[in-house]
Amino acid sequence: MAYDLIVIGSGPGGYVCAIRAAQLGLKTAVVEKDKTFGGTCLNVGCIPSKALLHASELFEEAGHVFAKMGIGVGTPKLDLPAMMKFKDEGVDGNVKGVAFLFKKNKVDSFQGTGRVAAAGKVEVKGADGKTQVLETKNIVIATGSDVARLRGITIDEKRVVSSTGALTLDKVPQKLLVVGAGVIGLELGSVWRRLGAEVTVVEFLDRILPGMDSEVCRQFQRILEKQGMTFKLATKVTAIDTSGNRLKASVEPAAGGAAETIEADVALVAIGRVPFTDGLGLKEAGVALDNRNRVQVDAHFATNVKGIYAIGDVIAGPMLAHKAEDEGVAVAEILAGQAGHVNYDVIPNVVYTYPEIASVGKSEEELKAAGVAYNTGKFPFTANGRAKVNLQTEGFVKILADARTDRVLGVHIVGPDAGNMIAEAAVAMEFSAASEDIARTCHPHPTRSEALRQAAMAVEGWTMQA
Ligand SMILES: Cc1cc2nc3c(=O)[nH]c(=O)nc-3n(C[C@H](O)[C@H](O)[C@H](O)COP(=O)(O)OP(=O)(O)OC[C@H]3O[C@@H](n4cnc5c(N)ncnc54)[C@H](O)[C@@H]3O)c2cc1C
Repeated sequence: MAYDLIVIGSGPGGYVCAIRAAQLGLKTAVVEKDKTFGGTCLNVGCIPSKALLHASELFEEAGHVFAKMGIGVGTPKLDLPAMMKFKDEGVDGNVKGVAFLFKKNKVDSFQGTGRVAAAGKVEVKGADGKTQVLETKNIVIATGSDVARLRGITIDEKRVVSSTGALTLDKVPQKLLVVGAGVIGLELGSVWRRLGAEVTVVEFLDRILPGMDSEVCRQFQRILEKQGMTFKLATKVTAIDTSGNRLKASVEPAAGGAAETIEADVALVAIGRVPFTDGLGLKEAGVALDNRNRVQVDAHFATNVKGIYAIGDVIAGPMLAHKAEDEGVAVAEILAGQAGHVNYDVIPNVVYTYPEIASVGKSEEELKAAGVAYNTGKFPFTANGRAKVNLQTEGFVKILADARTDRVLGVHIVGPDAGNMIAEAAVAMEFSAASEDIARTCHPHPTRSEALRQAAMAVEGWTMQA
């Protein structure tokens, strides 16, 4: 029986696409090579990392803040196997949720590695080596991404780990070397620091979190340093010697110069991710890739081969679960004859450390580079009542608004719960709000969201800061 749509990959791009397509009446199947659905995000990405971030944050709070609030728990003791079990159970609940949604929406699923045999044909090879060919009108490639590797450094997932190994360490390393000061390195570095590791982060560029607003990153780096993380910026790791009891990493200035050795028990290589297209048969099917090996698509997610589409980490754009999900919905709607669309100007970006970093829209650097005149409104959490009374005053909200029209162009937040707060800014920007629209919207008191409103008021200079 022929399908209307076969989706290869069941990550947030693939599973959302399949469910939306089925809801719109398309006969849909998903092919997944792993044992569980949910892709990187649910199995080894967003979900397990957030479980460990949450648990380790509470562990640190119990040790440092509870006593100030009159809660006597003594010195908290770490039970790492139990913490890992808590994480695994969370993952399990989430991946089962996807299986349930497939059944509920009548999406067929096939376990095995999918290969595009030709337009309209997907070959599925099961773990037992047996193959079957499925017929379909359309194919969506949603095979996601894989860990980027450093030449000459072998990831054994025990001592030299990727994010996947860093989510399953069986003891807290005394010294953790993190290679790469991007989101994943800082999040997982934070987890292990809170649990007791000494963390050194080596970054090739001269700043952390490349691409994010640099004022935000400067303040954030100072906060992380105060928490005990050490940074070596503009520095590269050239080799890791694994022969002794301790790892010996050779590092040198990115611009060249004298090398030095950093010893560590575990090294986390977190230099980014690369699109995953292995074994998909794209070359044979004639599907074009771009110069970074990503599947090339047009504005409607169509590849150069009729009936083959691609979404998520395997195409260009930020490697984020919610971006993949939105593309999944959009391509399903397009295939069902509707006008699916993704607004790439309003894709929030969050770093789930403590405090969190969240942004949506343009940074100051981007606006300056584009020659756009803008006004800035800023408000610190030290002046927000709720933040003060809860002893969570780190950070600020910054709003960038068009100097001529007052339209909000970018919002940047450093602070606890910034990831939830940024959703309000995203909705405002989706509706083309002016900063005055936010400033004149009644916000509940006492909440951290009032800081966003005050920052909007600050664009016009009428903030009410003590
Ligand atoms: C540690 C970590 C933390 C992260 N945290 C966040 C976060 O907090 N927020 C956020 O937005 N993003 C986060 N991400 C990124 C996020 O996980 C990805 O952007 C997202 O999973 C991409 O979704 P996708 O559907 O494109 O691909 P994936 O989730 O990678 O799914 C692809 C699926 O395709 C399957 N597959 C591949 N090839 C085949 C084949 N030939 N046949 C069958 N199946 C195949 C794979 O097994 C996989 O299940 C994190 C990533 C990591 C590694």
